[in-house]
Amino acid sequence: MDSPLLAVDNLSVRFRLKTGQALQALTDVSLALQAGETLGVVGESGCGKSTLARAILQLVAPAQGEIRWQGKPLDPHDRAGMKAFRRAVQCIFQDPLDALNPRMTVGHSIQEPLRALRPELGKAVIRQRADELLQAVGLESGMRNRYPHEFSGGQCQRIGIARALSVEPQLILCDEPVSALDVSIQRQVVKLLANLQRERHLALLFISHDLGVVRELSDRVLVLYLGRIMEVADAGSLYATPLHPYTRMLLAAMPLADPQQERERLAKVKVGAGELPSPLNPPSGCVFHTRCPQADNICREQVPVLRETDGRQVACHFA
Ligand code: SF4
Repeated sequence: MDSPLLAVDNLSVRFRLKTGQALQALTDVSLALQAGETLGVVGESGCGKSTLARAILQLVAPAQGEIRWQGKPLDPHDRAGMKAFRRAVQCIFQDPLDALNPRMTVGHSIQEPLRALRPELGKAVIRQRADELLQAVGLESGMRNRYPHEFSGGQCQRIGIARALSVEPQLILCDEPVSALDVSIQRQVVKLLANLQRERHLALLFISHDLGVVRELSDRVLVLYLGRIMEVADAGSLYATPLHPYTRMLLAAMPLADPQQERERLAKVKVGAGELPSPLNPPSGCVFHTRCPQADNICREQVPVLRETDGRQVACHFA
């Protein structure tokens, strides 16, 4: 089999806080993403999802581990290699206005990455590409001369997607890209991403706390808790038969569309029993043991190994 497009091997990230305390944001995280594949990354806020994206983008230095692009370790000192990586990997964030300069027309914002990374194309081709991208994300090319504040949140996210697509990336890191949008707009943007992903054979690393949205898009899903992988499985298996108690807890917390079923679910489920422990002082043994209904003595003492079971990976002594 060919090398994966992106591989993350045993990545750990630690932050030193102003107080002098060390915060372990990620511990021993490994993943592989093939071309054209969508990997969903789920977990509650504070579980390390965004840190994972930032580490892949080389925005934070890992304490340990390696990131490989097309089989080759990324080297921050290799300027040509890093330039090619930055062109091949683009991002979409929760707040699209972060990526759009309020003083720049949206046409210019979409052209900007092309002008920086593909200047050889020339002004006319770059302008034409930006117009085509506006249409590809469901907007009109005539909107090119407007400013971001003239668009709705959903339209701004479409413009953010057009900007990310401008340099023809192979991978897009999507960090909570629809969580600030209304549910109906979320659906439209997710559908747009799914279509673009298929048409352009894009790989997506799709980060979200919303398991419903992740299910729509993902081939496989990785579950993070306090910076550690709890479970990785193909999306169908994970949603049908979650093996890790934390995955089961997240799925039980998913709201149901039917009001009667939702009332029954809320009556039955003690959602998210207990608070997420502080990553400054993570629990011993299995980090999930303080909230796990199945926790036993061994869970408090020994860190469970991430084991391969039927083509999926689970970190639980009893899975
Ligand atoms: Fe729960 Fe123990 Fe499994 Fe951790 S190892 S998830 S505490 S049963």
